[in-house]
Amino acid sequence: MQNYITPNFSFAPVIPERASGSRVWDTEGREYIDLAGGIAVNALGHCHPELVEALTRQAQKMWHVSNLYTTRAAQELAQKLVEHTFADKVFFCNSGAEANEAALKLARKYARDHYGAEKNEIIACVNAFHGRTLFTVSVGGQPKYSRDFAPLPPGITHVPFNDIAALEAAISDTTCAVIIEPIQGESGVLPATAEYLQAARRLCDRHKACLIFDEVQTGMGRTGKLFAYQHSGVTPDIMTSAKALGCGFPIGAMLTTEKTAASFGPGTHGTTFGGNPLACAVGSKAFDIINTPQTLAHVKQQGEKLKQALMRLGEETGVFQTVRGEGLLIGCVLADQYAGKAGEINALALAHGLMILVAGTDVLRLAPSLLVTDEDIEAGVAKLRAALQEWLQVCSKA
Ligand SMILES: *Cc1c(COP(=O)(O)O)cnc(C)c1O
Repeated sequence: MQNYITPNFSFAPVIPERASGSRVWDTEGREYIDLAGGIAVNALGHCHPELVEALTRQAQKMWHVSNLYTTRAAQELAQKLVEHTFADKVFFCNSGAEANEAALKLARKYARDHYGAEKNEIIACVNAFHGRTLFTVSVGGQPKYSRDFAPLPPGITHVPFNDIAALEAAISDTTCAVIIEPIQGESGVLPATAEYLQAARRLCDRHKACLIFDEVQTGMGRTGKLFAYQHSGVTPDIMTSAKALGCGFPIGAMLTTEKTAASFGPGTHGTTFGGNPLACAVGSKAFDIINTPQTLAHVKQQGEKLKQALMRLGEETGVFQTVRGEGLLIGCVLADQYAGKAGEINALALAHGLMILVAGTDVLRLAPSLLVTDEDIEAGVAKLRAALQEWLQVCSKA
């Protein structure tokens, strides 16, 4: 097929066309088991009937009215988010990057409003991922994604992840925000320690800086709690969500406290599409399904099953050194002799009818539907086994 899309994406050699639950079919009619869920997006699988119903019902009522108005759909989803998190107020947008952009702008503005313009420094972690706008990609800790777009916005410092001493050394009274992913997703499914998050909270309090948790990947049930911060008991001042929030319909959200939100006065920030009724209607229904004891218990249980199966596969084949993560966000870290080969294995898995992900070049990442069944897990792991066995044979001949 002729490709009319800009070459920043390198598309896989198959074209998905139709999907249901954890199964996807391509244009040739081949079936895939989807343990990627987009990239941790399709949290209720593909075309969940209740989400299809919520979307089509809203589609027949009203699509868009501009942010000169609020809507029932937006208020309803915001209320649910507020009632089940630390937050008092929600800003809706369309993506994770936009949510983080709003979070960082708010942190700068809040610091300026309360302490003056010099308090503008942002501290982020090495290898962090916060999105692809110029600001968020600069705050992200992977220079390979930002350096070609210089000059980059100033006032951003990077510290090694999970290193309390480094954070303590970097933070000061000119710091306005510290931004952390509770589990670094893109760079390897690497969880922050509870001690690190606690230290970040303490240091932010000491220096009057906002603590921002980027839960774009970890939020909405992915780790077995509604949001990952709820495992640690450490509460941020600002938190972002996107990916699973609309289960595939684009929506992002920035959540914050009443006090911090006050710095986003009328006209200070905005968006045309953010909070549109279609996205909020889907998000609201998704929230109701995800935020139940049954779904969250299912995530923990299936996460444990999948992790155990992957550990056994690792022992059998010697390809993985560890399997880590929380709930249904799982990373298989390749053994040292296979470092750098995650992309190759991922491509071969697809050829075997399995959709998974990589996180960096050394980790295979799985982020399936939160409703993933035993059958999906067994079939998916069997396909991964077949792919690894074929790959090992190719390696041994090379
Ligand atoms: C995916 C991701 C983003 C960016 O989200 P987009 O919707 O692609 O803009 C930001 N932060 C984290 C932690 C992510 O995983």
